[in-house]
Amino acid sequence: MRTLLKHRSGIKSILVGIISLFTVFAHSQIDHKQLRENMIKEQLLARDISDPATLKAMRIVPRHEFVPQDIQPYAYADNALPIGMEQTISQPYIVAYMTQVLKLKDQDRVLEVGTGSGYQAAILGQIVDSVYTIEIIEALAFTAKNRLSALGYNNIEVKTGDGYLGWPEKGPFDAIMVTAGAEEVPEPLLKQLKEGGRMIIPVGPHKGIRQLLLISKKSGKIKTKEVMAVRFVPLTRTNN
Ligand code: SAH
Repeated sequence: MRTLLKHRSGIKSILVGIISLFTVFAHSQIDHKQLRENMIKEQLLARDISDPATLKAMRIVPRHEFVPQDIQPYAYADNALPIGMEQTISQPYIVAYMTQVLKLKDQDRVLEVGTGSGYQAAILGQIVDSVYTIEIIEALAFTAKNRLSALGYNNIEVKTGDGYLGWPEKGPFDAIMVTAGAEEVPEPLLKQLKEGGRMIIPVGPHKGIRQLLLISKKSGKIKTKEVMAVRFVPLTRTNN
């Protein structure tokens, strides 16, 4: 009886081994480039994304490298995905929309609040001169920093901290993108926006639907426009 059991568990581990080999093989066979092309056609071009720089960046950056391994097969789906620590990477369309609306130029210096996986920072980094990104959860900042340097993105600086306060030492910025939902527009960010600069930020009640606000600064005056209703994880103020 004991030998039979031993035998069975031996067969079981061989089977498990074969199945995992198949899984690894199947994953390595996923054509990520093709999935990215489909994403661009079906989710971006089919909607209102037409800025060439945004489309080029979305075509190049390997989104699957920014999500946990078990959800890599869904990396190019038309939705947000979990990245751990109860946070999410935005839907590809939202990433592209928020990038396009900033009308970025190649010499721009950009601030991002809410590094998360580092994906949005990588997209921005393809288009502009330098990206400064702040993440309040240390573990996420650490992973994003390592991931970005392993992938060779060397014009992106990541720091752990409260992005509500911006990054005054590196400002003022040509553009600011906040990728966590705020309850109001943080005053320090308005201060750190250059004359002629643009900011995109989701603002609204805690855990509710928020409005994506496009803010511009002209002759010292702040102009605000609501551009889309969105859902985002909240902008928090303490590191816990
Ligand atoms: N842009 C990210 C996704 C953002 S999810 C990506 O491309 O993957 C929102 C992120 O904002 C979360 O990681 C959350 O921890 C972070 N966050 C929340 N409040 C913050 C704050 N005050 N300062 C900096 N980051 C904050």
